Amino acid sequence: MTDASATPSEPTAHPEGLHPETVVVSAGRPPRTEQAPVNQPVVLSSTYISTGEPGPGDLIYARSGTETWLPFEEAIAKLEGAELPGLLFGSGMAAVTAALSLVPVGGELIVPRHGYHASLVAARDLTARSGVRVTEVAIEETGAAVAAVRAAARRLSGEGTDAALPTGAAGRPGPVLWLETPTNPMLEVADLPALVAATHDVGGLVLVDNTFATPLGQQPLSHGADVVVHSVTKYLSGHSDVVLGAAVTDDPALRAALLDRRSLGGAIAGPFEAWLALRGLRTLALRVERSQATAADLAERLSGHPHVVAVSYPGLTTHPQHERAAIQMSGFGSILTLRPVGGAAGADALTRAVRLWVPATSLGGVESSLERRRRLGAEAPTVPEDLLRLSVGIEHADDLFADLEQALAVAATYAG
Ligand SMILES: *Cc1c(COP(=O)(O)O)cnc(C)c1O
Repeated sequence: MTDASATPSEPTAHPEGLHPETVVVSAGRPPRTEQAPVNQPVVLSSTYISTGEPGPGDLIYARSGTETWLPFEEAIAKLEGAELPGLLFGSGMAAVTAALSLVPVGGELIVPRHGYHASLVAARDLTARSGVRVTEVAIEETGAAVAAVRAAARRLSGEGTDAALPTGAAGRPGPVLWLETPTNPMLEVADLPALVAATHDVGGLVLVDNTFATPLGQQPLSHGADVVVHSVTKYLSGHSDVVLGAAVTDDPALRAALLDRRSLGGAIAGPFEAWLALRGLRTLALRVERSQATAADLAERLSGHPHVVAVSYPGLTTHPQHERAAIQMSGFGSILTLRPVGGAAGADALTRAVRLWVPATSLGGVESSLERRRRLGAEAPTVPEDLLRLSVGIEHADDLFADLEQALAVAATYAG
């Protein structure tokens, strides 16, 4: 590292102990030198002037590292409570598959039965490619999940034979637990501290997709998780205009392995997208505060509505893991699910009837959106056919509710 004032491309030193609402605004700014820009410039360069043997952290070639990523990587690490900088990826799935590559050949992977469908497909893909045994569990049932982790560890240790344990990318044997909490789209809440303890107990790794909660709602590393991944496409960017991902870990060996996957796989972020993600991140706290409050309000108003069969939201006291969520999360998120009367046909009619809500996949934008998840063939068959996933944005709650009410009346015409 050279003197920060001489290297305007590097993010400025940042005071410690700030609130997350401040960190999203202040992290990753250029150094405060006279005439310096307030924002990191977009640098369009595939390569860097460089002679001789490069030093640590030197910029050489833009697939391996560029100054455009550094501010976001600094900010996401601070938000997740990590000392080491995060890693920006070209999509959430690039970060997910990099993290899943930590499962060794012949290893054991435990995943929630409900989760982001592409992550589950990528996990199953490891079976064909690398002989990885994948166990799907109801992640909200802690006893069953712990039993699955222990059974995987016993299989790896050869059930008493002295067969060698497969070794992970970071030299750690043992099973790998993949977590989403709350899960997509069922909003089941996993007991993070209990599952981390049980997995570490048998020498395993815990990887957490923290997209739904955002680092403002939940910090998995503080519960002992080894790696956190994000679809930056969603809340962190927040405007439905970029596809990006990120991974954060405080373990240097795991970070080196993830960095290798990024450099070798080449799924990197473009400079404009990285800039937009940081611009979006600046308002994360305000957006989440508003959308979360509205999600809670809508969940209350929709519960018991005559045209609604079921509503799920971790902030509702009727949610089966409400108390667990209250303990380990600092907010209940901005996603809820709704089953209208009229079945799948009614739910489809509702998605055509809304005027304000955007009928589209994805989530976490300033605009509220909704989707009947089972319209996608890849969604788990245990997700109800009529389940709508609602991503609440930052519009006025009354307008969002009125639009849902008129669309629910349309759905009700399908009720038998
Ligand atoms: C969208 C999403 C992903 C995938 O991210 P992309 O940016 O679309 O590649 C992974 N996990 C969750 C929970 C998501 O919602």
